[in-house]
Amino acid sequence: MLDPQNVTIDAESGAIAPETEHYEKRLSDLRQIFADRIALDRMVGEEGDRLVYQVRAFRKNESDLWFGTTTIEPGRVGSEYFMTRGHFHKRHDMGEVYHTQAGKGLLLLQARDGRVEILEMHPGSCSFIPPDWAHRSINVGDDRLVFVWVCNVEAGNDYGELEKGMQRRVIAGVSGPEMIESGVRG
Ligand code: MN
Repeated sequence: MLDPQNVTIDAESGAIAPETEHYEKRLSDLRQIFADRIALDRMVGEEGDRLVYQVRAFRKNESDLWFGTTTIEPGRVGSEYFMTRGHFHKRHDMGEVYHTQAGKGLLLLQARDGRVEILEMHPGSCSFIPPDWAHRSINVGDDRLVFVWVCNVEAGNDYGELEKGMQRRVIAGVSGPEMIESGVRG
């Protein structure tokens, strides 16, 4: 039997304590998800291989749930905002919850039947991601976007399903974020 426990989460940085897992994604790791690869290569050349996002988690052996934070830096590749890779879950019957702590984002969702939805992320928003909806979070603000996620340990991330990309992209338009067709069919 597991013992109850508190985990401390810093809303501004996404740091969690204790932390059991941590990974980072930099520009060079995300070459396939951004539309403008010339702009990406130019950025890496001029500014270095900048951090785009990091994921930190708290996971207990034998638990059914785990949780953690995702922190997306502000920035753009060409006109496209910094974002996560996006994934379906391996388990088609398991969803997730995203509770935004800081910043301003958009949660792009794509169902297996092709439907697309977008939810706003802001401090206080708690987004329900139903099973079988792919999800990608996008930082459309000037500060870090930090959110807490909670899901089943069995859910798993399936990136292969989105290898061609998602159906929509979010770019910076003249008066704010705009959603455009990516040309990929779901
Ligand atoms: Mn997920």
